[in-house]
Amino acid sequence: MTVFAYRNGILHAEDAALTAIADAVGTPFYCYSTAALRANWAAFAGAFAGQDVGVCYAVKANSNLAVIRTFAEQGAGADVVSEGEMRRALAAGVPPERIVFSGVGKTRDEMRAALSAGIFQLNVESIPELEALSEVASGMGVTADIAFRVNPDVDAKTHAKIATGKKENKFGIDYDHARDVYARAAALPGVRPVAIAVHIGSQLTDLAPFRAAFLRVADLLHVLRTDGHDIRRLDLGGGLGIRYKDEALPSPADYAAMVTSITGNLGCHVTLEPGRTLVGNAGVLVARTIYVKQGLHRQFLIVDAAMNDLIRPALYDSYHGIRPVVEAASDATTVPMDVVGPVCESGDTFALQRPLPPMAAGDLVAFDSAGAYGAVMSSGYNTRPLIPEVMVNGADFAVIRPRPRIEDILAAERMPGWL
Ligand SMILES: *Cc1c(COP(=O)(O)O)cnc(C)c1O
Repeated sequence: MTVFAYRNGILHAEDAALTAIADAVGTPFYCYSTAALRANWAAFAGAFAGQDVGVCYAVKANSNLAVIRTFAEQGAGADVVSEGEMRRALAAGVPPERIVFSGVGKTRDEMRAALSAGIFQLNVESIPELEALSEVASGMGVTADIAFRVNPDVDAKTHAKIATGKKENKFGIDYDHARDVYARAAALPGVRPVAIAVHIGSQLTDLAPFRAAFLRVADLLHVLRTDGHDIRRLDLGGGLGIRYKDEALPSPADYAAMVTSITGNLGCHVTLEPGRTLVGNAGVLVARTIYVKQGLHRQFLIVDAAMNDLIRPALYDSYHGIRPVVEAASDATTVPMDVVGPVCESGDTFALQRPLPPMAAGDLVAFDSAGAYGAVMSSGYNTRPLIPEVMVNGADFAVIRPRPRIEDILAAERMPGWL
């Protein structure tokens, strides 16, 4: 990722030195690059140029309003999984007719909000959800365009916690029930089944599972059309992976060619919902070394970021590159270090025995590829304030979510009358 590169020995985000941002906002913080966001968008959306394809950015990967707006400016729609995300997308300037609402447990209130906003499509994942939506929409006197998310029973070959397309996963309707479910929907008021949706998981590094799932969707499309349903759209989800370490990845062009080879002659509008691939490598997490601790057999680099700020290593055993912000001398020897945060959990470990140049208290480190599923999954565990998010654009940078004050965190809570 060339936008996060050393210049004169200092790691920069575009033309902004991470040391300068750290001085201005304190540590830890997330830092996103506008140029990287735009380049990722251009690579992905550009691969589908001229086709009847809508790209709906999966907001859950990074839902900061400034990130959503950066994509909205380029013509992005949004894939949302809650009313909160839908309102973020609308507030960031995504037109409602480019918003898809996904998720296995939409409440009636969320359905009402989506129908009032007039979004493009709701992706329904069960019969009870279908019945609820039918009631809500008919009660409002509207008809909702819907897809069913089908579960194609395909192994995405990714981490178990982010695989969603096997029949034992909670997502979607079983492929073998799809005909019955579409028939049921066609008989209900307030809903119009116009699409088939699929999303088999995240951080896929191989096209084969996508291809298998999309072929099943194409087969189903023919069956449903034969049954008399007017299916005009396919929603093929997200899931394309990024390079965290040394993964070999299909390019957006390879991915697009695979999609087009399957959908090109189906006469359908295609929606895609990329998240990670648009934001993952466009962000870093910057932390400061608090202590270097020499254990009996290992050295610990204790930094001021923790699992509550970036949970991916603890949750998914994921790998993030770790670089000193001030470049080490080219002849510096490396030492294996356990990079850990201050939270009272052994799981608060970013890396084990990672070779790093000699580090000292006060030194800054950057965790690479932290733009997706980083800030959005953070929590206030250990009463650690959510860390700021910063967006860089050339030499400019702006705080796009400030660090809350501890006073405000405490002030948000209430004592019951008896205390
Ligand atoms: C999470 C999710 C996405 C985005 O997944 P990425 O791996 O970030 O591309 C797309 N669609 C649905 C339905 C999702 O749940």
